Amino acid sequence: MHEMGLAQNIYDIVLKTAEQNGVGKVLRINVRAGQLRGIVPEQLQFCFGFVAKESTMIEGAELVIETLPIKGKCKSCSHEFMVEEYRFVCPECEHEDIDVLQGMELLVSNIEAV
Ligand SMILES: [Zn+2]
Repeated sequence: MHEMGLAQNIYDIVLKTAEQNGVGKVLRINVRAGQLRGIVPEQLQFCFGFVAKESTMIEGAELVIETLPIKGKCKSCSHEFMVEEYRFVCPECEHEDIDVLQGMELLVSNIEAV
C-alpha cells in the first residue's frame, strides 16, 4: 500500500517545517492530492497517524486531505476541461491526446501549529 510511503513523506516535510519554525505542537496539516494519485484519504490518515507517533510534536495532528479533480487540455484544439471518470477525450473535438494540467499534485498546503 503506497499510502505508507506517502505518509512518511508528509511526515518528513511537516517535521522539517515544524523544526525550522520552532513550533511546539502541530495541530492540523492540509494536504492537496491530485485525483490521479489514487489516494484513499482514510488509508492515508490511518498511515499518517501511525507514522506521526515517531514525534510527540506531530502525534495526534489532524490530516485534512483535499482531492483535486483532473483537468486536461486538448493538444489539438487547446480546449481545457475537467476529466470525468478518467475519460481522456476532448469533449469538443474528441481528440485523445490530452495534456494533464491538474491531477498529479501531492503537496502540503498548510500547517497549523502552536
Ligand atoms: Zn480538442
